[in-house]
Amino acid sequence: MSRDILRLILKKIKNFGCHSVHIGGGEPFLNLDGLAMVVEVVRSMSVNIEYVETNSSWYKGRESALEVLSTLREKGLSTLLISMSPFHNEHVPFYKVKGVIEACKEANIDVFPWISQFYPEIDAFDDRTTHALSVYESKYGENYLAKIPSRYWIHFGGRALKTFATFYSTKDYRDIVSVNKGGCSELLDVSHFHIDLFGNYIPGLCSGLAIRYEDLGEKLDRKQYPFLATLYHLGIEGFLDLAKSDYGFKPSREYLSKCDLCFDIRYYITMEMGVNSKELQPRGYYENS
Ligand code: SF4
Repeated sequence: MSRDILRLILKKIKNFGCHSVHIGGGEPFLNLDGLAMVVEVVRSMSVNIEYVETNSSWYKGRESALEVLSTLREKGLSTLLISMSPFHNEHVPFYKVKGVIEACKEANIDVFPWISQFYPEIDAFDDRTTHALSVYESKYGENYLAKIPSRYWIHFGGRALKTFATFYSTKDYRDIVSVNKGGCSELLDVSHFHIDLFGNYIPGLCSGLAIRYEDLGEKLDRKQYPFLATLYHLGIEGFLDLAKSDYGFKPSREYLSKCDLCFDIRYYITMEMGVNSKELQPRGYYENS
C-alpha cells in the first residue's frame, strides 16, 4: 500500500469514527519496509493498531526475528496475531510459529494466537516440516476437518469454498436460490471490515467484491456498481438472472452455498467474459483462484 493511499484511507475511516485498525495480508511480513511504513503512518495519524497478522513463514532464526520485531516495536507495534491452524501448517512448518512466539516474548510484543486450541494438535507432528490436511484426518479422524468450522470462525469465501466443498454436500443451484430469497444484507456489515492495498473496500468480507474507498459514505451510483446494487437489493437470485441475461452465464456444477454460486458467476464474468469491472477487484483474486 502506498503512503498516499494509506493516509487517504485513514482520513476516510477516521471521519466514520474508526480509530483502531488491524493490518493483515496476504502476509504483511513479506514486505518489511512496507510494513514498517504502514505501522509508522498509522500511529502518526493517531490511529491505534490492534494487531498485525502473520503466518510466521518469514521466520529464519531467533536473531533476525528479534531484530525485525524490535524495529516494529519501536515504530508502534504492540501485538502480533499469529496464525496457527492445520490450513497454515500445510504450508508453514510449526517451528517457525514457535520461533516467532518466542521472539515476541523477547521483543516485548503481545501474542494473539489464532487459535491456541490448535496448538497441541499441530505440535503432535514433526515441527520441522509441513503436514497435509490428510495427515490430520488420519491422526484425528475423518471428520476432523469437517468439524473445524464449529471450532473457530471461518468465512466461507475464497479458499474455504474449495476446501469445504469436499466435506459438505453441495446442491443444485435452484435449491440454493430457493432458500436464499432477498438481498444480501451481509454487504452492510461494518463490524469487521477490510480495505486492500489498492484502496478497495471489501463489502461484507466478500472477497473479490470492491467499493473504491473514495466512494464510501456516498450513495453508490447504480450505473457504476450494478453488481453490488443487484446483490444488495435482489440477492443471489437477481445476480444469477443478471448474469444469465447480460453475460450468458449457465450454472455448470453444484454449489456449497449462495456465496459459492456468487463467486462462480463473478469468476465467469471476469475471466471468461473478460469484463474489467471496478466492482470485481482485485483482478488478481480471480486470476489466481
Ligand atoms: S452471495 Fe455474494 S454478495 Fe451475497 S454474501 Fe455471498 S459473496 Fe457476499
